[in-house]
Amino acid sequence: MLRNDQLAEWDRETFFHPSTHLAQFARGEVQSRIISGASGCHIEDRNGNKHLDAFAGLYCVNVGYGRPEIAEAISKQAHELAYYHAYVGHGTEASITLAKMVLDRAPDHMSKVYFGLSGSDANETNIKLIWYYNNILGRPEKKKIISRWRGYHGSGLMTGSLTGLELFHKKFDLPLAQVVHTEAPYYYRRDDLDQTEEQFVAHCVTKLEELIAREGADTIAAFIGEPVLGTGGIVPPPAGYWPAIQAVLDKHDILLVADEVVTGFGRLGTMMGSDHYGIKPDLITIAKGLTSAYAPLSGSIVSDKMWKVLEQGTDENGPIGHGWTYSAHPIGAAAGVANLKLLDDLDLITNNRETGGYLNSAMHDALGDHPNVGDIRGEGMLCAVEFVKDRSDRVYFDAADKVGPQIAGALADLGVIGRAMPQGDILGFAPPFCLNRAEADEVVTKTVQAVSRIL
Ligand code: PLP
Repeated sequence: MLRNDQLAEWDRETFFHPSTHLAQFARGEVQSRIISGASGCHIEDRNGNKHLDAFAGLYCVNVGYGRPEIAEAISKQAHELAYYHAYVGHGTEASITLAKMVLDRAPDHMSKVYFGLSGSDANETNIKLIWYYNNILGRPEKKKIISRWRGYHGSGLMTGSLTGLELFHKKFDLPLAQVVHTEAPYYYRRDDLDQTEEQFVAHCVTKLEELIAREGADTIAAFIGEPVLGTGGIVPPPAGYWPAIQAVLDKHDILLVADEVVTGFGRLGTMMGSDHYGIKPDLITIAKGLTSAYAPLSGSIVSDKMWKVLEQGTDENGPIGHGWTYSAHPIGAAAGVANLKLLDDLDLITNNRETGGYLNSAMHDALGDHPNVGDIRGEGMLCAVEFVKDRSDRVYFDAADKVGPQIAGALADLGVIGRAMPQGDILGFAPPFCLNRAEADEVVTKTVQAVSRIL
């Protein structure tokens, strides 16, 4: 086995880490951290430190670490057939079974699933399908995509543009011209503090209507949104938001993409976030929870309405010119089948709803009155604590205060992983669905201790 110091040296010399301060890493100010094993909700590093991973990796290891059922399915698939492509009608038992399982779990009006590898490429696929759809319908001008500030939809050229977070645009010449952003449904951070939730929803609708009027409805193809804003701060929408938005989109013949990369397959305590909020999407993006990250796999679920036009398009133009070598990779598909089966067999979505609810209410009980805690919010197995300089006068921290990273650091020192969300003053939790009450208590108790070390 390689020595830790050797690995750390190679790491610093050769490995380009994503979403990392490269100069700080090179100078050794960001530590190289080598994870070596994991089980249930816990991860272990090469120095023998154990942590309760209350963010499930990047909110993706939904069924928990170390599941032999999934590992064995992957191994069996690799032995029998590690790879064959899915072009021109090819498939495997795993990929076809998974397509059926996904459609069985999707809203009734969805028709087919296209498999990719990451949430980003699935959203790239979605936008291409939307453009193709409007070209086939003879409306080549209807191409712009509306996204929300604080939305996260990936890191590609188009998906980085859809993402509504400055960090992902800055110095990359994004967003691309076809993307326009609208207001986030972030009630806590509303400008007008006198607004009720209902009035704030009406305000979001007005902003959307104004944007559509400004751009022209005949130039706008689609609206993309996460049922609950994730990376932008774990922000569940105010009551009535989604039906109100959907009504505007329907009125202007604008397609709706529900980006369920985080919410798909149970994170909100229902199979899909679209079920939870009564959203009727034309496309659904899935990734993380599809395989619980045991292998990379994503998907674009396409509605009946769009599918008919895609079929018509190929009759007119030949085979659809879109494919990845690894679309529907058999190993990913085998992981997906085993993962979705486990989700059912262990009734993990019910546990998720119950223990997630417990975690959220325990966090409220412990920190709800803290003078530096402005908001505690969540849904299912998602929870966020938003820190403010002064709760009564609503004075926000600056990103430069780095309060989120500092608290996340103190929490990690205490043995629990939470995530400092990119805004800088929000600590997020998205544990595996197998979290039990004792573990939820540990997350809360140690968060209180971490907060008291920093604030
Ligand atoms: N969409 C959402 C809602 C996400 O949270 C993410 C990743 O966190 C993505 C898309 C991009 O997925 P990936 O990182 O697999 O490309």
